[in-house]
Formats: sequence, structure tokens, C-alpha cells
Amino acid sequence: MRLKARVVQLDRGFPLVRTEDGAQFRCKHATALVKGKKHRAVIGDEVMVEADEAADIAQILEILPRRCSLVRKDPAERSLPQTLAANFDVVVVAHPLFELNIRRLERELVLAHETGARVVVALTKADLAQDEAQLRDTTELVRAIATNDDTVLVVSEFDAPSVEALRACIPADCTAVLIGRSGVGKSSLVNLLAGSEVQQTTAVRETDGKGRHTTVNRSMVAVRDGGWVVDMPGVRGLGLWNADAGIAAAFPDIDKAAMECRFRDCKHGAEPGCAVREAVEAGRIPPQRLESYLRLTEENEQQKQRNEEASRIRSRGGRRKR
Ligand code: GDP
Ligand code: ZN
Repeated sequence: MRLKARVVQLDRGFPLVRTEDGAQFRCKHATALVKGKKHRAVIGDEVMVEADEAADIAQILEILPRRCSLVRKDPAERSLPQTLAANFDVVVVAHPLFELNIRRLERELVLAHETGARVVVALTKADLAQDEAQLRDTTELVRAIATNDDTVLVVSEFDAPSVEALRACIPADCTAVLIGRSGVGKSSLVNLLAGSEVQQTTAVRETDGKGRHTTVNRSMVAVRDGGWVVDMPGVRGLGLWNADAGIAAAFPDIDKAAMECRFRDCKHGAEPGCAVREAVEAGRIPPQRLESYLRLTEENEQQKQRNEEASRIRSRGGRRKR
């Protein structure tokens, strides 16, 4: 029997898929799918599966085209992308309010915007803020870093209304992906959104001796009175992968100013007629913001160069047997 289903859990075993009417089963990838190109389903993927009552495991025959995906550079490879999740509507960037890391947040925002999905920044563990001033200043700073279209929320697991505000961002039929460093409170948020302990929090993971970075479980969890949320534990490095659109979307002010530069390929360095530098000098764009933009652009360009080199080598060498 051929069925359409969604990948709702990935762990060390076989992917777990769920059909529209809620039936769940474990699947393996059809050989044709993983041969050569090594296509593998990621969390959120829509797949066609062959479920045979007699067989103890179903088969993923086809991965349907992805509506959107979260992609980073594969940390273990020089020039390969790694898709972390597919087919979602919102990316929630979780970041602890009391230890804001601006560089990291900017990178997370570029990756989030690159997906084309809506972006919500959740400033977590707000109860640990030193005082009102830190709360206010950090929120304001983050609002300035995020784009006008992004939602910025201040949340704490001890403040129910703050969790409800996040829940409201994930209505029925909506899927959210939760990214952020380990320990920022993602699992705690997932549990609160689900209304039950579905995800082990860092504290628990540490005491059970498994170590907090070993979890590779990705699962899609039903949000009570809402849609779905995917936690992304164990995602540490966020290397950019073809992130031109993400950089432009995360830095709309710089992108807009750049249209007025005299040279179309202006690098906003020492070129004459650079409208971006002009905007910085006039105080319309903070200098640190331009620095961040240039740093991320440079990383992105270097990665693109590596990819071109790699694809040249690949085409020269022809198809290599494994
Ligand atoms: P994750 O690694 O991002 O999934 O983070 P966890 O949800 O496991 O949380 C890490 C630690 O922070 C745990 O000990 C949680 O109990 C704690 N924590 C999570 N959310 C909050 C919060 O809103 N306030 C405070 N004070 N602690 C929190
Ligand atoms: Zn310029």
C-alpha cells in the first residue's frame, strides 16, 4: 500500500513517519533512493512510503520536493551542505536573554532567514535577567538586530503568559523549528508547548550520564492547541551555506543602501561612491552591524569558492565509485 506520510522522528534507528490519519511506522530508505546520490529524509520531510502489512518495516520510496529547508554547511565536510529540517513555517531562534551573543544571534538570523520562513526570536530564561534594565536594554538591542518582520519575544518557563505568546506563533497546521545553543532552554520550551514532558532537558540528560551533546534525536512534537514544533538538539556549528538571500534578508538596511553604491559589485570597503559606508558615517547604520555583515559575507563567499572548486574536481574526476 502506497501512502503519503511525514517524517516525525529521526534517531539512530529507522525514521518514524506519520500519515495524515495518524498512523505511525518505522521506515527504511528504498535502496534506489540512497544509492549514488544518497538521498535521506530529514525531519519534516513529506515522503511516499510503501507499507506492507506483512513486512515489519515500511519503505521510503520517494522524498517529495521540500517547500523550505534549514541548511548549514556540513561541519564534517569541506564543501557539502547538511539539511537539518524541511517543510516548516516558522524558525524560532532561542537565545538566553541574560547572555546575549550578538555574533551568534546574527548568524542564527541569517540561517533562519535563508529558509524563507517566518522568524521569531525567543529571548529565553528571562527570569535570570539581572534587573529590569538588562531586560529592557537586551530586548531593545535584539529588536534593532532583528528585522521589522521578525517577532521578538521574551520568555521564561516560569511565566506562563510568555509561553502562551510563543504558542500563538505556532497555530494549528503550522510547523516551527527551534534552533539555538545547547542549554538555552529549548527542550523546556518544547515540553511547555506540548503540555507534557516529551523532551529531556539538559539537566536530566546530564544526570543520566549520556552527556548533553550526545542527543541526536530529532522529533516533531504536537503543540497543545497548536501545530508542531521540532527541537534541534546537538546542532552546534552553524556554518553558512549559499546564504546570499539569508544575509540580504537579515540585513535589509545594508542591502537597501547597497543598491545606491556606485559600483554594482561594491564590497563596501574603500571604493568611491559607497552608499553603505556613507550610511554608516551618517549614523544610519551602526558600524558593528556593517562589520558583521562583511564578516558573514566573506564567510559565505569563501564557502562558495570552495564549493566551486569541489564541483570542478568532481566533474574532472567523473563519477567515482564508492
Ligand atoms: P536546551 O539544551 O536548549 O534544550 O535547554 P534545556 O531546556 O534543557 O534547559 C537547560 C537548563 O536551563 C535546564 O536546567 C532548565 O531547567 C533550565 N531552564 C530552561 N528554561 C528556563 C527558564 O525559563 N528559566 C530558568 N531559570 N531556567 C530555565
Ligand atoms: Zn558600497
